[in-house]
Amino acid sequence: MHAPASQDMGQDRWKAIEDPAQAQRYLTSLKRPNGITRGPLFLADQSGRIIPGAPPIDAKDIESNDVWGFNGSSFQINEQEVVEFTGDRYELAEADLPFLLPWAREVLDLEIDPKDLNVPRYPPEIPEAITNKAFLAALSEAMPEGAISSDDEERLRRGHGHTQEEMYRIKYDQLERIPDLVVWPQNEEEVESLVALATQHNVCLIPYGGGTSVTEALMCPINEERMIVSVDMKRMNRIRWIDPVNRMACVEAGAVGRHIMEQLAEYGFTMGHEPDSIEFSTMGGWVATHASGMKKNRYGNIEEMLLDIEAITPVGRLQRTSIPPRESIGMDPRRTVIGSEGNLGIITSAVVKIFPLPEAKEFASVLFPDLESGVAFMYDLQQAGNTPASVRLVDNLQFQFGQALKHAPKGGVGVLFSKFQKWFVLNIKGFDKDKMTALTVVYESSKLQVKQQKSLVNKLAKRHGGMSAGSDNGERGYQLTFAIAYIRDWLMNHWLLAESFETSLPWSQTVQMIEKVKQRLQKEHDARGIPGRPFISARVTQIYDTGVCVYFYYAFYYKGMERPWRVYAELENIARGVILEEGGSLYTTTALEKLGASSCLTSCQTL
Ligand SMILES: Cc1cc2nc3c(=O)[nH]c(=O)nc-3n(C[C@H](O)[C@H](O)[C@H](O)COP(=O)(O)OP(=O)(O)OC[C@H]3O[C@@H](n4cnc5c(N)ncnc54)[C@H](O)[C@@H]3O)c2cc1C
Repeated sequence: MHAPASQDMGQDRWKAIEDPAQAQRYLTSLKRPNGITRGPLFLADQSGRIIPGAPPIDAKDIESNDVWGFNGSSFQINEQEVVEFTGDRYELAEADLPFLLPWAREVLDLEIDPKDLNVPRYPPEIPEAITNKAFLAALSEAMPEGAISSDDEERLRRGHGHTQEEMYRIKYDQLERIPDLVVWPQNEEEVESLVALATQHNVCLIPYGGGTSVTEALMCPINEERMIVSVDMKRMNRIRWIDPVNRMACVEAGAVGRHIMEQLAEYGFTMGHEPDSIEFSTMGGWVATHASGMKKNRYGNIEEMLLDIEAITPVGRLQRTSIPPRESIGMDPRRTVIGSEGNLGIITSAVVKIFPLPEAKEFASVLFPDLESGVAFMYDLQQAGNTPASVRLVDNLQFQFGQALKHAPKGGVGVLFSKFQKWFVLNIKGFDKDKMTALTVVYESSKLQVKQQKSLVNKLAKRHGGMSAGSDNGERGYQLTFAIAYIRDWLMNHWLLAESFETSLPWSQTVQMIEKVKQRLQKEHDARGIPGRPFISARVTQIYDTGVCVYFYYAFYYKGMERPWRVYAELENIARGVILEEGGSLYTTTALEKLGASSCLTSCQTL
């Protein structure tokens, strides 16, 4: 069996079920013939924990180092000057995207020439490693063979996350400071030795999960003179146990989102945490960044799912022997680890709530005449108290962008139908094509609840002038999320710098704040004489009782600019000033340190 760790203390209370067939028999035994789970008294005698095998690693799943995502999946312009998405992973890859380039030229008011490229120069020059010889010697003794590397590209990849600045720098500039060494521990004991040695030899440790950080917390402070070691948690990637009776699972910190979901589903469960980065981000990263998932209305954000955390800190191990559903124990040290961005120690595993796979899952989409009516709909929906798993509202520009990403209709009925749809929306419904907005919905629950939620959504949408745009468009909207993540790094090659930034704020300020940020960015763009028009768009991504979370997407043409990420940072800071004036937060999902120095500095000092 996989090395039992301290999360398994008291494991002898539970029957360990390792064989998959036995696990399925056990799961069946927990149900009555009508499929309903038996009562707790029966379950007390039966209780066991399922020990899943290693995660399903697919040899095809190679990640790119120089751009976001899987190797082989990317946007490109073909010889006919039509955009296409390569590979076979996402729906976007099924056919050409003939509308995208003409639409981009019009919206940005730029003559985008597909042959005028800023050709990436990855890899950049790699800074020389600083070596603490005594530490390295001791570490080599403590770690098994193959657990340490000073390879340049391994070091480089762990020295950045996925902000546009970091990606620009690795392709066209340089990172002045990156980790000097990478270590892959495979259990708590190795993490403990590593932390002890780092403390003893005054070495910095930076935990690394999936490297999808957007807070610049993986970047190393330029003037750090001590040796910096990236602790890649990839080898601690298992689900240690699933407790189907008490609905919990213990997951190692390096387990990747897509594998966690796949493995839990094999046993009929889900964690329900689905950040847009789920394909690559890890359990440890989610906890360390206080992550939020798209289905938080149904399953909660990470802090609500989390029952326990185990972490190794420079002053000892954070652990305990039981996992009660709630405790009043004064200040809870585990809570301080949430959002700590690796500053307090290395998270090695977490116990999270799990839910049976939903009985019903459906998508929907609704068009609204404008942003105000869409936000008013969301407000009423939240107040009504039976919110679908996810609702997201895109503004007009992003709605148009979604249309521009469509494949060409396959002719005949397809062409006629889409023309009819357009005609109906604009002429019969009287929507203004330059104002209408679109909402996508995911329902995920019992059949009864989904039915109730659908009826509520339809009733409220009608009240706010909304019009159903079908389940296919809703599903497409969600699927697009994963493919669209590839677009930013590709645009960079065509002299377009694009990035998102987010905030959360009270309901009453939402529409006004969005308008003000857009106007201010436009004004700043014009004042700087940046060619063409900027792309400034907003999406309301999450709703809460007291307000919403809004993501802004901002892109501009950067040809001729020296270090364009500096211009971006300046403009984002100005936009953030507007957000703060309107009562918004600096950040919502992540971003402890984005505006200041890297959190590595603090983590170095702590360890
Ligand atoms: C395209 C894209 C979409 C995204 N969508 C979302 C979203 O929907 N919701 C959301 O919340 N975020 C989102 N993010 C941000 C990012 O994916 C999250 O912050 C994620 O939780 C980071 O996880 P990771 O495993 O990649 O961590 P990393 O990027 O490797 O690390 C992030 C931080 O956590 C620390 N850390 C990592 N592992 C550990 C550990 N075991 N112990 C202690 N500290 C650790 C690191 O030191 C670093 O400070 C997105 C990012 C991108 C690029």
